[in-house]
Amino acid sequence: MYLCSAVKDLKEIIKYTFLYKGTAALVVVCNLLFVVFNLLSLVLFIPILQLIFSNPDTAVRPIPAPTMESLLDVGNYLKQSYEYHMAQWVQSDPKMALLGVCISVFLAFFLKNFFRYGAVWFQSELRMAVVRDLRNSLFNRALVLPLSYHSNERKGDLMARMNSDVGEIEIAVVSVLELLFREPIAVIINLITLILLSPELTLFSLFLLPVSAFVISRISKSLKKTAKLGQEQTGLLYAAIDEALNGIRIVKAFGAIRFVQSRFERINLIHQKLITKTFRKKDLAPLLNETIGALIMLLIVWFGGVLILDHRGVGLSGEVFLTFIIVFSQLLRPIQGISTSLSNLAKARVSLDRINEVLNQPDVILEEKDPAILADFTNRLTFQNVSFSYQSDPVLCDLNLEIKKGQTIALVGESGSGKSTLLDLIPRFYDPSSGSLFIDGVNIKQFSIESLRSKIGMVTQEPLLFNGSVLDNIAFGEDFPDLEKATRAAKIANAYSFIMALESGFDYNIGDRGNKLSGGQKQRISIARAIYKNPEILLLDEATSALDTESERLVQEALDAIMKGKTSIVVAHRLSTVVNADLILVMSKGIITEQGSHEQLLSKNGDYAHFCRLQGLK
Ligand code: ADP
Ligand code: MG
Repeated sequence: MYLCSAVKDLKEIIKYTFLYKGTAALVVVCNLLFVVFNLLSLVLFIPILQLIFSNPDTAVRPIPAPTMESLLDVGNYLKQSYEYHMAQWVQSDPKMALLGVCISVFLAFFLKNFFRYGAVWFQSELRMAVVRDLRNSLFNRALVLPLSYHSNERKGDLMARMNSDVGEIEIAVVSVLELLFREPIAVIINLITLILLSPELTLFSLFLLPVSAFVISRISKSLKKTAKLGQEQTGLLYAAIDEALNGIRIVKAFGAIRFVQSRFERINLIHQKLITKTFRKKDLAPLLNETIGALIMLLIVWFGGVLILDHRGVGLSGEVFLTFIIVFSQLLRPIQGISTSLSNLAKARVSLDRINEVLNQPDVILEEKDPAILADFTNRLTFQNVSFSYQSDPVLCDLNLEIKKGQTIALVGESGSGKSTLLDLIPRFYDPSSGSLFIDGVNIKQFSIESLRSKIGMVTQEPLLFNGSVLDNIAFGEDFPDLEKATRAAKIANAYSFIMALESGFDYNIGDRGNKLSGGQKQRISIARAIYKNPEILLLDEATSALDTESERLVQEALDAIMKGKTSIVVAHRLSTVVNADLILVMSKGIITEQGSHEQLLSKNGDYAHFCRLQGLK
């Protein structure tokens, strides 16, 4: 069971790791060389130990010339010939031999660390490449996902997935290479060396494996659960930071600093506790392993020591015994490494699931296989039996509506009656739950989303601008803004004179979300943005509602200017602005209750006439 899920974890991580085969291969090669030289740096010590521990009686212990009986015996042969030649050297010129061994041990150490660094070098590239790719695809996905996803999921949650979950994958990518290519090989090479040194003692060390495997599997399981909670809490944490910093003005104005602070501290405290728990569990496995390892090592020291003291150690000299202990202690490192890697993988599995949740989020707004291109809007936009609901309550009910090219349609009605929702259906931010929209008789679902949206300009109540220059914002989404076109757009939008009064005109940086501009200025820039795009259909959703009277006048002039010759649907709060519309629709609870021109509706003396009286218009 445990092994099964571990293998599944592995598969997905490997998929990411081996996107960069060349770099991964270099990491593997460097790691292998590291393992070899690590071992050599220890084993090459044996002659020195022999030299130092030798006394006159044993120094002349004859060493047989190497023989090779079969190919399987290569290890033994190498060992014998090394011992044979070293012994000869030690006997003929002990001081030179000592120097020679010291130099070769140093070389082994140097190369070991050289290759370790090589592995780290390529690893750094690999892990960051994987992180970059993952973030790119998450971000792309987030941009493509429908508005309904963004209103359901918290922004902070997405940020956590892009940040700390991706971080877990980064760690796992490194772990997986070590788990597959370094540690098992290190274990095998070390084990072979141990067997060559002393098969009896090696038998003992095999105790370690099943015991630690059991320990690790228990810890990994509970680690997964905690890790999931921790990552979810990270999402809440980011959401809290994001919300508070975006609303900092309101937080201060309402004297809510203490309130927001204590709410944040509560979330942060839970986060701290959960992550602490995760760390504790994650770090426990290798430590337990080391303890178990040390216990077994001491058992070996005891067992081997007794053998030597009793003079029963067949072929087990002091120096070989010492080397055995040193090499054995080196065996613990890769075994620990395996356990650490496994627990990293368990944690990464959780993060991978969270990342895949975003990547595999189904598209709600689907494009046809071979979508038509909406070249021109020539005739009319039609709503046919359109109903829509966000959750269960209907927001729009069975709407029928025809808008002719060039007309200005006004939508009025109390807030929450579904006006913004109606507008959102036109660029397909949402699709109707039933019924359809047609442009010139063609269902809008048959057009490519890009070509559909390119025909639509939008100005909303809240002008959403981006950090950048005035020009970048007016020519939003274009790599090479056309200054002349932007100037024309700015003039129509009543924005030209204030832009020229800014420090650096069109190059002026307007700050995060355009914070360095006034509300009216921001709105006029967002109108200029809509004009620059030169759309056929204009959607204006309470574009003037957030403004003071003077700005409203300027913005309204701008709007009147761009609506000329365009097809516009205008949601207006202030009825004075819709008097001239070709058709006024009065909405209530998702239903169009009245429609007609200003005069027609007034004479009807219904809701519209009532609104007009309320606003002193009559
Ligand atoms: P209006 O623009 O006329 O004020 P909206 O179209 O914004 O009204 O909203 C119509 C109804 O839909 C409201 O009752 C509102 O609560 C609900 N609503 C709006 N947006 C969402 C959303 N993203 N998720 C769920 N319900 C929503
Ligand atoms: Mg609205």
